[in-house]
Amino acid sequence: MNKQTNLLDLDRQSMEAYFAAIGEKPFRASQVLKWIYQHGVTDFSEMTTLSKALREKLSDIARITLPKVISEQISEDGTRKWLLGLDNNNSIETVFIPEKDRGTLCVSSQVGCALDCTFCATGKQGFNRNLSIGEIIGQLWIANQALGFYQHKNRTISNIVMMGMGEPLLNFDNVISAMRLMTEDHAFGLSRKRVVLSTSGLVPAIDKLAETSDVSLAVSLHATNDELRNILVPINKSFPLAELMEACKRYVKVRAVDTITFEYVMLDGVNDSEAEARMLVKLMNGIPAKINLIPFNPFPGTDYKCSSTSAINRFRDILVRAGIVTVTRKTRGKDIDAACGQLVGKVMARAKKHQHRLIGK
Ligand code: SAH
Ligand code: SF4
Repeated sequence: MNKQTNLLDLDRQSMEAYFAAIGEKPFRASQVLKWIYQHGVTDFSEMTTLSKALREKLSDIARITLPKVISEQISEDGTRKWLLGLDNNNSIETVFIPEKDRGTLCVSSQVGCALDCTFCATGKQGFNRNLSIGEIIGQLWIANQALGFYQHKNRTISNIVMMGMGEPLLNFDNVISAMRLMTEDHAFGLSRKRVVLSTSGLVPAIDKLAETSDVSLAVSLHATNDELRNILVPINKSFPLAELMEACKRYVKVRAVDTITFEYVMLDGVNDSEAEARMLVKLMNGIPAKINLIPFNPFPGTDYKCSSTSAINRFRDILVRAGIVTVTRKTRGKDIDAACGQLVGKVMARAKKHQHRLIGK
């Protein structure tokens, strides 16, 4: 037994196995999960539903270690961004976006990203490593703490999107376990519909996801033909559009979901013509789709520009007239670089090539 077991790295099943392995009853797992995720307690001595002996034992053999908060920024629109420090000077970012009827936490899954989409600041900085389960679920714990949830118990965070730094499906097992904790009754207890995984389109992993998890799926499309998508989202060279759309259809069938959300970043003069909107309508044929148009958020060094409001509206109207539910995402937290695609943190000792080998095909 590892003396240093970080309990944040265990979902309910693993925690039950952990307690069984240390000679304790499996129901201790639910108690400890509640202390950590519902009461915000990270000190074993405060877990008063456990016997004193068990509290002391846990202090000896386990720990609850969170990422370190390096800084917190608050935008003029109320969006908050945390910079969280990990090992070896790496850092990641997490963003909370308050809206009238909901509060969304945008969670990172990797230190950087190896997929190198040309319009994404995270992609431009390369990749270091996958986040552990504890580093993923720890972002939710830290945001809850900062937003006062553990004091007033009002659920300020109602939705979670795996849309921060990284490609969640390239960190499959840890992301699945962390999302289980997000939806687990004894942990955070969110509805599966309110937890969204966004992927750039890794076909085999989408199939695996359909068999493993029932959270909501968002797919980053951004182009309607392979020639352009190969440039914008280079992983398209391994998993071209036709294969991706088939995987989406299989996902809908296997999971019997109502919709898949498709994200489409609006890049001036690149992918925002009316002809492309019509192509997008065709591509959505046979899929219960919702489309999110994302105004491009610039970052230092990029040549792309955001489409004009009139181009975005024209594009949206074509989709809406074809009967597709389409939402233009509001840009939030721009003044603190917290908008989609602007998250960077710090990626030390890039390991890009290694992760490319992992993707394979
Ligand atoms: N890697 C995953 C999830 C993280 S990115 C994915 O690609 O889906 C979350 C969303 O932000 C994706 O749809 C991504 O394409 C989009 N995005 C990336 N850079 C952006 C930018 N500069 N402006 C607007 N959206 C961006
Ligand atoms: Fe990675 Fe997503 Fe950014 Fe592409 S858009 S580089 S997959 S984080």
